[in-house]
Amino acid sequence: MKNLNDFKEEIYKCSRCGLCQTVCPVYKVTLNECSVSRTKFNMLNGIVKGDLALNKKIMEYMDLCLGCDACKNFCPSDINVCEIFTAVKMQYNRNKKRLISPYFVFKTLLFAAKTGLFLYRLFGTDKLTQRILRGAKGLLCKRVLLFNSLAQQKIPGKCKKRTSIVKTKKAVYFKGCFNTYINADSEHAVKKIFENTDTELIEKPFECCGISLLSSGFEKEFLQIAKKNLSLIPKDCDYILTDCASCSFVLKSYEKYLPSDITEKVVSVLDLLKNRKISVIGENIKITAHKPCHEDSDFISLIKNIDGVDYIEAENFDKCCGFSGKFALNHQNISREISKRKAIDFLNTGAEFILTNCPACKLGINQGLIELGNQQPEVMNVIEFIAKYCIVE
Ligand code: SF4
Ligand code: SF4
Repeated sequence: MKNLNDFKEEIYKCSRCGLCQTVCPVYKVTLNECSVSRTKFNMLNGIVKGDLALNKKIMEYMDLCLGCDACKNFCPSDINVCEIFTAVKMQYNRNKKRLISPYFVFKTLLFAAKTGLFLYRLFGTDKLTQRILRGAKGLLCKRVLLFNSLAQQKIPGKCKKRTSIVKTKKAVYFKGCFNTYINADSEHAVKKIFENTDTELIEKPFECCGISLLSSGFEKEFLQIAKKNLSLIPKDCDYILTDCASCSFVLKSYEKYLPSDITEKVVSVLDLLKNRKISVIGENIKITAHKPCHEDSDFISLIKNIDGVDYIEAENFDKCCGFSGKFALNHQNISREISKRKAIDFLNTGAEFILTNCPACKLGINQGLIELGNQQPEVMNVIEFIAKYCIVE
């Protein structure tokens, strides 16, 4: 595993031009220079030279980052900023003793959310809450509304099977912890659509892709689950299918940390649909979309090509939604403000639906809408929209 010293040359490459400041969503909200990669590199430079110690305070600044890669994509010196921040966090955590595994805590929280949502749905609390708290201003009410947005299940789980279709391809479906524990809409949609294609979906008891462990720098736990996931992937599968931009990104990044030959096989479900004719059932629908930071499929073109979709591009459609898992918990006010600014851009389009390809981004966009006192337009994963409102030929 790499240490900060391994990135010495990369850090020296920073010319302090400050272009990263102009694109950093955290800086735009906080105006705090310490959130910008240039300033973080000044600190890291000090550590490499031995002038500064890698301590808790420096880690707080490293944590002031969404991992959105906006600065990396804009940096004229082509520095892989987030990879360096991750290496620093791993180095800091490496010798820390922890009584409880962070992955155990993460899974316990997911399980608690799953149980809570089950009870919530069972008693129909979601609809009642939505009605009572609509437009509420208090932070607690907004949090309840965000939780409530998870409780809405929209895609029917089963569809009629066309038995005549011969399965010629095998795809192992990496459904991710969000679908597994919190909201199965995407999973239902993927199964509904792929049941009638020539691709057989194989399921395995995968762990989380590990994005939260990776971004927090929990190296040992990340490697454990990455190894387990890799061992479960059948050698003869044609694809490793995901419906989440973050899962795709992390699965592809396994090769940076472990021997892995899966990168080429990791594809978005949307990639496999790009040559199919997709049409909206009924009248035209106005759609806008949010491109997740880690999305590398051209899903916006797929949306534009759906018959019956009137696509309206939102300003900043490809900028971070502000959620980014742990960041939304540790830096609630910054996260909410970034999401709110995004939501204003979406509302300006007048679209009926906001589509994206990441469950965490769905939460981020809903967080922004709730900040503005709105619960519309509806936010959906693209695959959910296709399963519910379209015909795939
Ligand atoms: S854009 Fe790149 S080179 Fe310029 S200050 Fe930021 S990190 Fe350094
Ligand atoms: S990755 Fe995003 S949030 Fe982090 S420093 Fe770069 S632009 Fe700012």
